[in-house]
Amino acid sequence: MTHKSSSELFNVAKTLMPGGVSSPVRAIKPYPFYTASASGAHLATVDGTTLIDCCMAYGPLILGHAHPLIRAAITTQLESGWLYGTPSPLEPEFARLVTRDHPGMDMVRFVSSGSEATMAAIRLARGFTGKKDIVKIEGGFHGAHDAVLVKAGSGATTMGVPDSAGVLADLVAHTRQVPYNDPEALDSLLSAHTDVAAFIIEPVPGNIGPVLPKDNYLREIREITKAHEVLLIFDEVITGYRVGIGGAQVKYGVKPDLTTLGKIIGGGLPIGAFGGRREIMELVAPQGPVYQAGTFSGNPLSLTAGIATLEYLHDHAPVYRELDGKTRALEEALGSKAGGSFVRLGSMFKYFFRDTPPKDYREVKECDTVAFGTFWQGMFRAGIFLPPSQFETNFLSAAHTDQDLAALAQAYTQCR
Ligand code: PLP
Repeated sequence: MTHKSSSELFNVAKTLMPGGVSSPVRAIKPYPFYTASASGAHLATVDGTTLIDCCMAYGPLILGHAHPLIRAAITTQLESGWLYGTPSPLEPEFARLVTRDHPGMDMVRFVSSGSEATMAAIRLARGFTGKKDIVKIEGGFHGAHDAVLVKAGSGATTMGVPDSAGVLADLVAHTRQVPYNDPEALDSLLSAHTDVAAFIIEPVPGNIGPVLPKDNYLREIREITKAHEVLLIFDEVITGYRVGIGGAQVKYGVKPDLTTLGKIIGGGLPIGAFGGRREIMELVAPQGPVYQAGTFSGNPLSLTAGIATLEYLHDHAPVYRELDGKTRALEEALGSKAGGSFVRLGSMFKYFFRDTPPKDYREVKECDTVAFGTFWQGMFRAGIFLPPSQFETNFLSAAHTDQDLAALAQAYTQCR
């Protein structure tokens, strides 16, 4: 398989853009393929190759690429304009949908990315509690802003820079870490440090996973944070509408104080949102003193795509059962093999190069990344695009067909 055009494009991009890419995890070695178009579960490269996509833009595309209903909704909205800089009726409509679906969200503020959402949620938690520190889990990824770029998962772990240069040590001193699936560690940390505003966590870590919560872990951290008067922030940027309507908080029956969303709620267009208990959200400007603002916040195009997506998910409730059936079929087709473990939750899944499913960041880091690299190349040659990292979760969409799944199962069996 040659990718001459991609290689040439990358040679130019490298001279103009750091690492040749707009986001680090896309910098596949020796060069990334360039996409010309995408439809359903498939990417078409500029070199004329078609790939089955198991990355799905890192999560937003639960219905697949260029879904006709979303395209129609966006096209209709385009006729009425795509940016107003004023409120539009889409905002209360979307806010009603999102707050109705999430028990932990009485009110919501729309922003333009997941990073913006977590940044604002952390500021709000500090504003509400008057406390300084935050706690995150090791390997948790909450976007590329200073407070959370400490032992961060996703591209930060893949690139070997989980602690970014340029982030002030003074600032990072306010970000503490605990292992996932370890309620005692959280309890002791909160007992020892009383100046903690919030515990921010991906309820099911996707950026090193999926890593699944043990037993009552999520309920226990709810109790522990409550006892220490620390706000619990569920970062559901990946899990929101991915593990079901209402995300992990509904699936596991745990109500956080604040929730952040992104990815799926924009139907493939840029978006983020944060929301939570009314008394906390009422502190957000202009209602309260915690400042937050954005030119593109609540833009009508993203909201239109988001509303169309959420309505589709509500109207086609079996979609989640079907997605779960797809990863189950894949798991069954693969069976078990020494040196590997298959982990799945609904349409999130991954093959870990490790005998048993990891329970936290330390165990994830024990995976054989060299074996993963060889496997990834083999899968790519077989026409399958997996996120190019042992640490990123893989995604299926409603658009993956039985034929795609059969091709996936065959390639996995050959390449792992
Ligand atoms: N939070 C989580 C859990 C994420 O996975 C991501 C991105 O992958 C973010 C926040 C940041 O979102 P965005 O890339 O939209 O800024």
